[in-house]
Amino acid sequence: MAESDHRLVQTAVIGSATSGLGIVLPQEADELRRLRRRHPTYTYWCGTQLGGCGNKLSDRLCADKVCHFAHAPNASCHRKANGANSADHLFIKQDLARWARGSGVDARAVLRDLGSGPGDAVDFRVRGSRQRVRFQFRRLTHPQWRSAGEELERDAASLDWVFGPGSAHPETVAEMYGRFGHVLRFRFETEGVARRIRIRAEEARSSTDWVPLDACAMTPEGLRVPGVERRRRTSRPVVAPRTPPGGAAPARVPVAPGARASVAPGRGSSADAPDRRADAGAGASPLVRKVQRLVEELNVLAAPAEADIRMKAERLDREAASWAVRYGRLTSSDFWSGKATKVAAQGDSLAGRLEKLAQHLK
Ligand SMILES: [Zn+2]
Repeated sequence: MAESDHRLVQTAVIGSATSGLGIVLPQEADELRRLRRRHPTYTYWCGTQLGGCGNKLSDRLCADKVCHFAHAPNASCHRKANGANSADHLFIKQDLARWARGSGVDARAVLRDLGSGPGDAVDFRVRGSRQRVRFQFRRLTHPQWRSAGEELERDAASLDWVFGPGSAHPETVAEMYGRFGHVLRFRFETEGVARRIRIRAEEARSSTDWVPLDACAMTPEGLRVPGVERRRRTSRPVVAPRTPPGGAAPARVPVAPGARASVAPGRGSSADAPDRRADAGAGASPLVRKVQRLVEELNVLAAPAEADIRMKAERLDREAASWAVRYGRLTSSDFWSGKATKVAAQGDSLAGRLEKLAQHLK
């Protein structure tokens, strides 16, 4: 397989500049030849829904490097995201529309530009039951997440957040753990010229399997991911009351097989985290702030890196979030018993590993 190059344009839209039909160009010459034979009439565009210039693109067949899209020589383009993942918001939008249709639900998926482009977030809105699911691509600071949540909750009966790689701040993750016992994540897998979303629930020390959208279901409580028992143990709910005041029936998406299964035994220790966790004591600790700053820095550095590095960064991100929860739960007696020293030492070791990986990427 040829070396991947992040500067090359690897995604486009098909048919017109305003099209929402995304495509990832195959990197191998043979695959591109096959695509050309199968779809000789396809035209490719630097689509406006990709944050692109709207100009036509040609597909470059290369034997010595990866195949890629190319602008005409005189085109000027300021598109920020060109990599294989840069059309993921279009793929999820299509997938959500298909999922809703298949489930007989009147819903809409909307692209949200939060300042860096049309792929910053995708909101799924069920009309009748006023349920919302936010698929977050762009990284949010903790205060940004809070204010976005307030905005989304304003007229919603339920709100679920599903975070893309590196899009959740460690404090946000810690807060999600504290409130719900888990955080929902998504990632994409390339399938031919498209990319497909996979979703899972992550707890501090365990995760459910990555599943396609079809394995998930909208229930009156919101998005249901197989293997997760929903916990609402919060004094300030992220999600408004289950039954909308207008009395509209919740979405009638059938619950997928397995979706009712509760979380496996042995999981869920993090769900016992008290709501106060990272907010007060831990938030003020210089060590927690240091770890959070390092996680943020690492996520930025790891975003364009190879998959194994991104996975390492993701693991450290999760470890940091669960450590922050443990740190936030320390009581004054823990400081006398030596437990606090132990947890602080774990934080130091974690900071060391975060720094080491970040150094490796610089
Ligand atoms: Zn362009």
